[in-house]
Amino acid sequence: MSRQIIVGNWKMNGLTADSAERARTIAAGLPAGSSAEVVICPPFTQLAALASIVKDTRVGLGAQNCHKDEKGAHTGDISPQMLTDLGVSYVILGHSERRQNHGEIDETVREKAVAATKAGLTPIVCIGETEDQRQSGETQNTLGWQIKGSLPDGFSGILAYEPIWAIGTGLAATPDDIRETLSFLRAELIRQFGETGKSISILYGGSVSADNAAEILAIQDVGGALVGGASLKPDAFLSIVRAASAG
Ligand code: PEP
Repeated sequence: MSRQIIVGNWKMNGLTADSAERARTIAAGLPAGSSAEVVICPPFTQLAALASIVKDTRVGLGAQNCHKDEKGAHTGDISPQMLTDLGVSYVILGHSERRQNHGEIDETVREKAVAATKAGLTPIVCIGETEDQRQSGETQNTLGWQIKGSLPDGFSGILAYEPIWAIGTGLAATPDDIRETLSFLRAELIRQFGETGKSISILYGGSVSADNAAEILAIQDVGGALVGGASLKPDAFLSIVRAASAG
């Protein structure tokens, strides 16, 4: 298995002092010789300060969104170039909270993924089904269309499978469900992207915790985890990193 990646999505949490403290604790607590890649994604306002804190550590820095344009009349938006300028390497795109609360559709996400890649960022594109889609047996159909719509041709980033019903609920998908969905996603990536589809990492996200991480990260083809709530607690986040390193 290739190197697993553990991404912490801090969402809209963190003022200057506690963000700095959290980043320092995570950097200092990384297991020696860890085989996992670790990325933290704080709010935009914390990126500059955290860039200098994680510089020269093994913690990578990501943002939670970006615009598709390099510059221009887009009040309140942040371009991919503004992120690389700060030392940011990753960007989460198409998170379900952005799709739901900001009307982002697959096409928006795809355009952002193109722009992010062009700027030198690694996009982490999120897809996932709602509880209703799951209940009506539409999971695979939904995910297949999201891959087709959200990932640009020649996509070379990371895919994050995050069932919406599992995000922030404390109810992660079962290992059997993750295994089955990931094998569908892998087949779909290969169908849509050919050979490249074999090497796109697929993260699982949705209530990953210190308790369930080892089981989830041991599942065949899980390339790592996108972690929300537990990434705000350094102890829990570091346990998840250790679980990845052990895999
Ligand atoms: C997320 O929002 O990306 C997420 C996975 O959240 P949580 O881990 O809290 O379910």
